[in-house]
Amino acid sequence: MTRPYNFSAGPAAMPESVLRLAAVEMLDWQGSGMSVMEMSHRGKAFMSICETAERDLRELLAVPSQFRILFMQGGGLAENAIVPLNLSRGGAVDFVVTGGWSQKSAKEANKYATARIAASNEADGHTSLPTPASWKLGKDAQYVHLCSNETIHGVEFHELPDLKALGCDAPLVIDFSSHVASRPVDWSRVGLAFGGAQKNLGPAGLTLVVVREDLLGHALAVCPSAFDYKTVADNGSMYNTPPTYAIYMAGLTFQWLKRQTAGGLSGVAAIEQQNKAKAELLYSFIDNSQFYQNKVAKDCRSRMNIPFFLRDEARNEAFLSGAQAAGLLQLKGHKSVGGMRASIYNAMPLEGVQALVSYMREFEMTQA
Ligand code: PMP
Repeated sequence: MTRPYNFSAGPAAMPESVLRLAAVEMLDWQGSGMSVMEMSHRGKAFMSICETAERDLRELLAVPSQFRILFMQGGGLAENAIVPLNLSRGGAVDFVVTGGWSQKSAKEANKYATARIAASNEADGHTSLPTPASWKLGKDAQYVHLCSNETIHGVEFHELPDLKALGCDAPLVIDFSSHVASRPVDWSRVGLAFGGAQKNLGPAGLTLVVVREDLLGHALAVCPSAFDYKTVADNGSMYNTPPTYAIYMAGLTFQWLKRQTAGGLSGVAAIEQQNKAKAELLYSFIDNSQFYQNKVAKDCRSRMNIPFFLRDEARNEAFLSGAQAAGLLQLKGHKSVGGMRASIYNAMPLEGVQALVSYMREFEMTQA
């Protein structure tokens, strides 16, 4: 059976081999007589699954020892509240707004702290990145927040800012939901990173938080215990029942990622090369076409989420129904942007992007 190519922004396509292995292990995980869903989170079997997942992720992302890896719940949107509850001390926090997700984060943080906009690309419709030297960072900021890949607008930081070089001592918080594990992370520039799993890591329900140890233990008194990073860290992500099956699926995905190779590289470095090649293929096709268009500045185009437009929007419905018939699913753009969006996360093979480009070329020809 060949499966269609799924371009959903999330929950998104998973590696087929991971789904197949999960199917094999569904009723009886490695002779335990139990599905992973049926295991106690404190039992030996699940503890080993969870520890292996954490170890593999630390290795894949080269997470330094002074950072803790937390498996939480609530998704990126809950983190928009949980981060200020833990890090703001009720003071001021600075936001770099580069699209819909960072905008949402600032709004939510303002319930628990004073959220200031240090920079914004709203004036150009979220199609560029304000240069870090222009950011208005306050001396009293408890942290600086940015979304390192804007899933809706297709804007990505290809390099994280060096806040120290900008004269700012506050920790950098990144929402890396939609490009986590698609490329390496420069942890020397990060205090905390969070992301929902449902794009690059596994199914929805698991939220990843990677936090520098010195940022633990400062939660506001009103912070729910289950969302206090120190409580979660002290209990090895098992203060409450963690999303066990999602952790298992993420663990299988990490093993798949470790097996990736490209040009003598492996793991995340290899997947980064594959992601570059996939994005380059689609962007160069769009840029060379009079029929399609991408509006994001070239230096900050996302390798994961590629919004594009038909210059004649009256053809949108025909484009989408033809795509569906060709086995190319979920290409409709986010309602706030319109047009189309191809999300090409780690699990999307190069062949999927080639199939999309072929379809786009054919569609254009039939419309001439
Ligand atoms: N941040 C980013 C960058 C996202 O792409 C999303 C989901 N698409 C969220 C936050 C919200 O995540 P969730 O729905 O898991 O709360």
